[in-house]
Amino acid sequence: MADLIRGVLFDIDDTLFDYSSSERAGLLEHLAAEGLLDGFPSPEEAVGRWRRIMEEEYDRFLVGELTFEEQRLVRVSRFLGRPVPEEEATAWFAGYSALVNAAWAAFPDAAPVLAALAPRYRLGVVTNSTLSHQLAKLTALGLLGHFGTTAIVCSSEYGQAKPHPGIFLEGCARLGLPPAQVAFVGDKYDIDALGARDAGLRAFWLDRSGRGAIPAHESAAGPRAGAAPARESAVGPRVGAAPARESAAGRPARDVSAGEGAAGSRAGDGREREGAAGSRGGDGPAPDGVTVIGSLEELLTALDAVSSRRSAGGTAG
Ligand SMILES: [Mg+2]
Repeated sequence: MADLIRGVLFDIDDTLFDYSSSERAGLLEHLAAEGLLDGFPSPEEAVGRWRRIMEEEYDRFLVGELTFEEQRLVRVSRFLGRPVPEEEATAWFAGYSALVNAAWAAFPDAAPVLAALAPRYRLGVVTNSTLSHQLAKLTALGLLGHFGTTAIVCSSEYGQAKPHPGIFLEGCARLGLPPAQVAFVGDKYDIDALGARDAGLRAFWLDRSGRGAIPAHESAAGPRAGAAPARESAVGPRVGAAPARESAAGRPARDVSAGEGAAGSRAGDGREREGAAGSRGGDGPAPDGVTVIGSLEELLTALDAVSSRRSAGGTAG
């Protein structure tokens, strides 16, 4: 019998915060201002190149090979294809960063779902980044108030990055709950969903694009298996379009309408994905132990379904 879920931990980037869209908007505006955009076959190729380099160098930051600042400067040199002096690279990245920050936006479902969860669950964050950066982001997005600052765990300060089980357990400890009573929600199948599952949490994989998981063995191109889906998404139709799902038909999570009343208009996902990974929100975890949700609104339904199953099992309380 599953434990009652009493807490929910969230990833930030591309889970609560629309990282990909703000990155894309900021980069294209910066390249245009620098007179560089015409040097690429297409804007999407520029975005794809930037994203690939970011994923690789950010992984080096996460394993401690580079500082947060260093990975930024290395990305500039690699992207421009020449050694860029530190001062110039710093200025280049600052120009880019200011435009990205101006485009910062939460997903439309983030604030309403956090507000709906807050009365019933302890809420926190586990993110592969630095505390100052993520606090600034959550503040700018107006989401910080949903979390106590003590419930925000960042890899830089903690010393280990997802999918290391320790950082998930630290998030649970900050909530004052055992992992079996904590749900984790993130957009990366392997580092978020499988990482949380392996740490003993209830794993929810947020697949806004409906692509389904890309098995780790197919994503061997990078230093970390989890990087591959994100790289591919940078040049695909998903960028900037994630909230605009195709259809409300298909196989919605059970009782999905219950989530709509609280948080918006999305219903189920329009695609069949159970062959890929996980299971749809209301159906309970699949053999891989991961529950797939197509939006944060579906999380409300899925958490209710977990509670219902537990109640039906006769041990509610
Ligand atoms: Mg993420």
